Amino acid sequence: VKKAERGQVALHNATIQNAYLNKIKLKDRLKQALKEKTLTVYYQPIVNADTHHITKLEALVRWFDDEYGMVSPGTFIPIAEEFGLIHLVGQFVLEKSCQDLAQIHKAGFSDVGISINRSVSEFKASINQVKLITSAIENAQIPYDSITIEVTESLATNRYTWRTLNELRKHGVKVSLDDFCTGYSSLSNLIENQVDYLKIDKSFVDSLMSDLNKQVMIDCLIKLSDKLSIDVIAEGVEHLSQLEKLRELGCHHIQGFFYSPAKPIEACLTLLHTNAFV
Ligand code: C2E
Ligand code: CA
Ligand code: CA
Ligand code: CA
Repeated sequence: VKKAERGQVALHNATIQNAYLNKIKLKDRLKQALKEKTLTVYYQPIVNADTHHITKLEALVRWFDDEYGMVSPGTFIPIAEEFGLIHLVGQFVLEKSCQDLAQIHKAGFSDVGISINRSVSEFKASINQVKLITSAIENAQIPYDSITIEVTESLATNRYTWRTLNELRKHGVKVSLDDFCTGYSSLSNLIENQVDYLKIDKSFVDSLMSDLNKQVMIDCLIKLSDKLSIDVIAEGVEHLSQLEKLRELGCHHIQGFFYSPAKPIEACLTLLHTNAFV
């Protein structure tokens, strides 16, 4: 190997090593944050496309680290999954969301629900997700159907996951297929397994206005969903033009910065009290 090439290989290895060390450090700090309960949950409004009322809030975990600052869940959720910490994150978000929803209901907004993200890696035979989720709901004394579980379809979404989700649905808990139109999402899964909501991913909404094919696809998807009694939620809606197009196509719910980013519960209560988007 020539000297220059050797140098490149060494540099490459050093980069991988640094990334790995950084990951280990993040993992350790996340562990600490979980122990000290310094994670928080923010909520992003999901708005009915016809009435402009907030119908749901999506719970999105937030982690502020003293050294790293705000760490995106897009960064630390995969690390939590890799190092077996995802159950702790999931349990924290579940309990906090149910308690916060109880507070929202007590404030007079009993029609509002909360949507909770659940990693597919949390659905393992050794852990009874049905028990965990129904217990959290019962402890907070909120109705089962005020909680929606969001799962992203992936190669790992196996029969066991679907069986668990179906069991949750029998209790009244709602199920939402997240990030639809990306990755491994398939129509056959949609038809074989009953879900209540389908979320069109932001990447799809991003190119909606410039890509006629996408509009045709969403049009068909909404027509199919109507037949299956599934409500479609578009996420990542930032512009009025996107909102108007989605409404025209019959999309049921809208989520995105056009209305609001995820906020602390107090700020969401203010949005509810002021009927902010009506
Ligand atoms: P997701 O489930 O697809 O959540 C939507 C993401 O898009 C959120 O990012 C949200 O803040 C962002 N978003 C919503 N509307 C807009 C918009 O109009 N413009 C832009 N630029 N972004 C928008 P966030 O909070 O950073 O979360 C990233 C991902 O991390 C989530 O994607 C979800 O997969 C995962 N995640 C977040 N919280 C949890 C959690 O509690 N548990 C699990 N398992 N995963 C979570
Ligand atoms: Ca989600
Ligand atoms: Ca999503
Ligand atoms: Ca997404």
